[in-house]
Amino acid sequence: SLFYQAQISGRRIVGAEALIRWRHPVRGIVPPGEFIGLAEESDLIQALGAWVLYTACTDLAQWAQHPEMAHLTVAVNVSARQFHQVDFPDQVLAALDRTGANAQLLKLELTEGLLIKDIEGVITKMDKLRARGVGFSLDDFGTGYSSLAYLKRLPLDQLKIDQGFVRDILTDSNDAAIAKMVIVLADSLGLNVIAEGVETESQMSFLARQGCHSYQGYLFSRPVPRQDFVALVRQNTPGH
Ligand code: C2E
Ligand code: MG
Ligand code: MG
Repeated sequence: SLFYQAQISGRRIVGAEALIRWRHPVRGIVPPGEFIGLAEESDLIQALGAWVLYTACTDLAQWAQHPEMAHLTVAVNVSARQFHQVDFPDQVLAALDRTGANAQLLKLELTEGLLIKDIEGVITKMDKLRARGVGFSLDDFGTGYSSLAYLKRLPLDQLKIDQGFVRDILTDSNDAAIAKMVIVLADSLGLNVIAEGVETESQMSFLARQGCHSYQGYLFSRPVPRQDFVALVRQNTPGH
């Protein structure tokens, strides 16, 4: 099933990241770290990825019917093997068409690993989706093999500061320096920046002082089932 974790900007919920969970009859809720890698070794990731996209678009379309939910964006993680399929852009467009979701509210999260091969093909696919309004965020930024030369050519909207740099941001001066660098880089490239794994007020204040005003993390909410996410947004809506 699909869980949602709030993304915050200026203390308001502006969207959510869709995070998959496996409801196992015996083991309970199994986190994606335990099965996404396996699914990626086979073609299972394609069916799984298509299901996530379709489900997220269905929720987006449904939320559009409610004034307090209608502005929310949904970020969907896309694995390399899924993105490299020839018909990936068509799959996304078909999910948007079939569900009636607003493409402007869909954001795809790519990781640096996806950029290692066929960068021209990646850019072509991104352009095709961008032409319809779909946005792109670069997840786990700084943990892979980013080439700054490619970074300036990619039609991205956002860099996501990896939680590995946020965790010890107050005590490890290297992590703090890297986080600052990502914020400055995003700003210079004209991109948004969001920090993931924000667990404390002091991490948030530190990031805010550096110029990062969008956050995701346990400080605001854990990933929750969709009904709980809807309740969370309503609580967060003034006058509701
Ligand atoms: P990710 O995309 O970088 O997602 C962020 C992870 O950090 C999530 O783990 C989230 O639950 C966790 N997290 C969020 N806030 C905090 C915090 O404040 N502290 C800590 N310690 N952790 C926090 P999760 O849900 O276990 O997902 C792990 C990874 O699995 C994701 O990393 C993503 O790469 C992958 N994944 C999840 N759903 C999907 C999916 O639908 N498709 C694909 N291809 N990959 C997925
Ligand atoms: Mg992600
Ligand atoms: Mg991440």
